[in-house]
Amino acid sequence: MKIAFIGLGAMGFPMARHLSKQHELLVWNRTHAKAERHASEHGTRACGELAECAAAEVIVTMLPTSREVDEIVDKLLPDLERGTLWIDATSGDPNVSRDTAVRLATRGVAFVDAPVTGATVGAENATLTIMVGGAPEDFARALPILQICGKKIVHVGPVGAGHAIKVLTNSIMGATVWITSECMLLAKQLGIDIKTALEVTNAGSGRSNASENLLPKRLRDHEWPLVFKLAHHDKDIRIAASLAHQQHASTPMLALTQQLFTSSLNQLGDGADYIEVAKIVAKMNGTSWD
Ligand code: NDP
Repeated sequence: MKIAFIGLGAMGFPMARHLSKQHELLVWNRTHAKAERHASEHGTRACGELAECAAAEVIVTMLPTSREVDEIVDKLLPDLERGTLWIDATSGDPNVSRDTAVRLATRGVAFVDAPVTGATVGAENATLTIMVGGAPEDFARALPILQICGKKIVHVGPVGAGHAIKVLTNSIMGATVWITSECMLLAKQLGIDIKTALEVTNAGSGRSNASENLLPKRLRDHEWPLVFKLAHHDKDIRIAASLAHQQHASTPMLALTQQLFTSSLNQLGDGADYIEVAKIVAKMNGTSWD
């Protein structure tokens, strides 16, 4: 099958590599050199013009937000063939994705939102969890493609449902990272060694992905790799907060998490990794993790 993959970032680059092992792959990236590198390393075809992607039976987008996806949809719409399937793996906005699906349907193109979780390591190892919103027949078409990149693929509901659950799970992660950082800092201030504090937390009821996998490297080993941009995480939590607002839902913890993450982003800048919010937790207390 001919698949076009658009967006060769931290997640898209390895996902496109997996797909290229079983399918003919066209790749397009805003910075063309990355598409050329993908082509030379993985035998894919780098498209110089975005319009070349319209020839594919399936188009996959993996872009920062729904805004960039919409811009690409606008550019490709006139050239798309009826029967094409568009899989949007971006962590996007369900309201926008529903509009996008309607616009694509006018050209006979099916759309599913299929955001992923599992971080760059999951993309590298093809072990992502993928949550899909779309009509059952479109999910059935997308499934064998998504199974190449992921381990657990879940159909969560109609178009937009994938994007909705994605931003909610990322909000849970954000709140957990923040409270765990606060408590680890307090432990340190109380004279408890950070290694010991993490060891006890991870052997007890405070254990989480944040305490087991995300924070030790940063707080204990003082390594702060960039694996997931804080700007992307903040975007997800802001979408979740806007969904709560639309539903007239009372979600004070979500609102606070959004405030904390947006404030952290404003202080740390676009280049920061999401776990660097722990630095802001320390800064708020006039200290650091060193
Ligand atoms: P990156 O920032 O690494 O990559 C973004 C990609 O989008 C690049 O290919 C970039 O092109 C392209 N791009 C940016 N702006 C535009 C534009 N205006 N027009 C066209 N292309 C554009 O992001 P990630 O791969 O980390 O994330 C992608 C999506 O996946 C996000 O929605 C994120 O929230 C989500 N996600 C990320 C995870 C992670 O751990 N990183 C985990 C799970 C989900 P260029 O090379 O030119 O900059």
